[in-house]
Amino acid sequence: EFAIEAKGLVKTYAATKTTPEMRALKGVDLAIPRGSIFGLLGPNGAGKSTFINILAGLCRKTSGQVKIWGRDIDERPRDARAAIGVVPQEIAADPFFTPREALEVAAGMYAVPPKERRTDELLTALGLADKSSAYVRQLSGGMKRRLMVAKAMVHNPPVLILDEPTAGVDVELRRQLWNYVLELNRRGVTIVLTTHYLEEAQELCDQIAIINRGLVVACEPTTTLLRRM
Ligand code: ADP
Ligand code: ADP
Repeated sequence: EFAIEAKGLVKTYAATKTTPEMRALKGVDLAIPRGSIFGLLGPNGAGKSTFINILAGLCRKTSGQVKIWGRDIDERPRDARAAIGVVPQEIAADPFFTPREALEVAAGMYAVPPKERRTDELLTALGLADKSSAYVRQLSGGMKRRLMVAKAMVHNPPVLILDEPTAGVDVELRRQLWNYVLELNRRGVTIVLTTHYLEEAQELCDQIAIINRGLVVACEPTTTLLRRM
């Protein structure tokens, strides 16, 4: 069983008055092993966010099959979505919440029973324990991003998906974020991230799929892929 498996995945955005029909995914086959750090690498417009949005349930696929942690997203959508946490590109945390409140609200949305919440554990794991009672607006950019990761993990999913986790982030923050992601993986979480930085995929990922114009054009262990480039 894979963490995520897509077969013949197609997404066509309908035409609008101002834009033509867009085939964003043209039959994507992808099998992401459990326990891996898997990079989805490709230029802007390749279809990476579309893929993530289909996994997250934010966008409907046109055709094809997707399984998350062995659960078909058509047949068992709730079970499938319970197996992933998604960190969006943009920071979306209420500036007037504290990190602790933000995590409690997120846990509530996932209907995690109070006794099963791991708020303190997550605050510590993401280096936010000292700031757990500060307002989100007072946190540094790096802390806000780590809070986004913590929010995605409140229901203890086996898979964490990050969409362009370090876009527009400086080198130091990027390293810091990578370290937290690596630590989560060491604890057994499967990591899927999209990036258009080859360097990021190379440093972090043990397997890389290159996606271009809606198709997977390569999918290999990082070591063999780089030998050919
Ligand atoms: P990436 O994340 O790799 O940059 P996207 O998945 O965002 O790629 O986009 C893939 C293609 O689909 C692009 O041509 C983009 O313009 C188009 N697209 C993305 N979202 C929409 C949408 N909501 N409606 C129409 N076209 C879209
Ligand atoms: P379902 O009956 O909804 O398929 P299961 O609990 O049987 O759910 O889970 C299916 C697989 O996913 C099992 O291998 C289980 O160990 C694994 N699994 C489910 N939830 C988690 C989790 N939070 N962390 C790690 N593995 C999980």
